[in-house]
Amino acid sequence: MARISPRKRQVVSYNEDSDEATAKADRSSSTSSKKSKSAPLPSKNTGKRKLESVAEVEQGSQDTIQPKRRKPKAKTEESTMPLAERTPVSSLKKLMYIGAHVSAAGGVQNAVSNAAHIGANSFALFLKSQRKWDNPPLSTEIRDLFINNCKEHKYSAAEHTLPHGSYLVNLAQADESKASQAYKGFLDDLERCEQLGIKLYNFHPGSTGGEARPAAIARIAAQLNKSHKATKSVITVLENMAGAGNVIGSTWEDLRDIIALVEQKDRVGVCIDTCHAFAAGHDLRTPDAFNKTMAAFDEIVGCKYLKAFHLNDSKAPFNSNRDLHANIGTGFLGLRAFHSIMNHDGFRNMPMVLETPIDKKGPDGKTVEDKQIWADEIKLLESLIGMDPESDEFNEKAEALQAKGASERSRIQDQVDKKTAKDAKKGSKAKAGTKRKKKSQGSDEESD
Ligand SMILES: [Zn+2]
Ligand SMILES: [Zn+2]
Repeated sequence: MARISPRKRQVVSYNEDSDEATAKADRSSSTSSKKSKSAPLPSKNTGKRKLESVAEVEQGSQDTIQPKRRKPKAKTEESTMPLAERTPVSSLKKLMYIGAHVSAAGGVQNAVSNAAHIGANSFALFLKSQRKWDNPPLSTEIRDLFINNCKEHKYSAAEHTLPHGSYLVNLAQADESKASQAYKGFLDDLERCEQLGIKLYNFHPGSTGGEARPAAIARIAAQLNKSHKATKSVITVLENMAGAGNVIGSTWEDLRDIIALVEQKDRVGVCIDTCHAFAAGHDLRTPDAFNKTMAAFDEIVGCKYLKAFHLNDSKAPFNSNRDLHANIGTGFLGLRAFHSIMNHDGFRNMPMVLETPIDKKGPDGKTVEDKQIWADEIKLLESLIGMDPESDEFNEKAEALQAKGASERSRIQDQVDKKTAKDAKKGSKAKAGTKRKKKSQGSDEESD
C-alpha cells in the first residue's frame, strides 16, 4: 500500500455519491490539513485519471462512481438488466463460487445488485471508503437493505462475500497513535461484517515500515487477537502479497508466522491472490507447478486456513514482485493456471473474486468501465470446470487470450528486464543485502 502515489490515492473515492452523510463527513474532515490532502475531489480526479491505472484493479472496482454520481438513477436501471445470467452453482461439476470485486458506491446494499448484474456467485466489496479514516457508521437502514438484497438475490453473506479492508490500515504499525488508529479502522470493519452477517474479512497483512520483521508480525498478531476478543465470529483473512522489501505476506512463511501467534485459530484464514502469488515467486502455470505451490502452501501455512481467492492473471512476469493484475488468460499465468484452480476440489465453496481490469477507453477518449468483461470472465472460468485441458476448445481459448495480452506482457517484461539490468549494475557495486529493498520499488503504475 505504501507504494501508491498520492495521485493514485485520489483516483478512488467511495460512497460519497448520493450519500449526504458521507459528503458531510468529508467536508468536516477536511479541516485537518492532512486529511484534506487525501479527501477525494471527484472532478479533479476524472481529469487526472489515466488508462494506465487500469492495472490497479482493487481501486478500479470503485470507479463506477463517476457516471453514477451524475446519474444516480442509472444504478437501479443497470441492476435490472443483467449482463449475464447467474449460473446455478449446483449445475457446475464443482461448486465454485466465482464473482468479482464490485462497487459499493451509494451503500453496501448496492454491491449485491452489482454482483447479480454481472452474474456473480460471490462478491467482494469495500465496507466503507478504503482511503479515508472517517466514515459515517453503518445505518440500520443500509444494513437491512444489504441483508434483504442478499436474500432476494440468494447470496450467502456469510459464505460468499469477501469484503476488502482499507488500504490505510497497517496492523504492523509501530507508532502507538497510528497503530491505535489502524486498529480502530480495522475493528470498525469487523463490526460492520458482523452487523451484515458477513463471516470473512480480507485484508493486507501490512508493512514492517523498515523495522524488524518478527516484531512487525507480532504486532499484527496482537492486533488480530485484540480484534477477535472484541468481536464474535468474523474470520480475519490474510491476503498474500506480491511485493518484496517491507511488505508482509509475500511469503507463505510470513502468513504462517502471523497465524502461529493468533490465539483463536478459527478466526484467522488466508486468501490467495493468484497474481500476487505468481509475482512473489509461487508458480501456478503448469499442473505440476500448481501442485507444488499448493503442497508448499499446505505444508507451510496449512490448507485448512485457505478461505478465499482473488482470481487475477499477471501482467508482470514470474517472481517480479510487481502487482499488476491482468485479465484472465491474457497474462503471464495463462489460462492453464486457472484451469488447475477451477478443477481443484479443495477450493469448492469459497468466494473466488475477480479483480481484473475493466477500464476501457470510450469513444470520447475518456476511461469507462466495461462490466461485461467481468460477466464474461466469470462464464469463462466456469466453463473451465471439467473441461479437458488437452482439447482444441481449451487450447484455442488459451491461445486467443495469450495473443490478446501479448503486447502488454512484452511492455511490462521490458520494464522488468531494464530494472533487473539496472539492479545488477548497482548490485555489482553494492552489497547483496540491499536486493530485497530494491525489488520493492515499483513504478508509478504499481497497485496494492
Ligand atoms: Zn487486496
Ligand atoms: Zn493486487
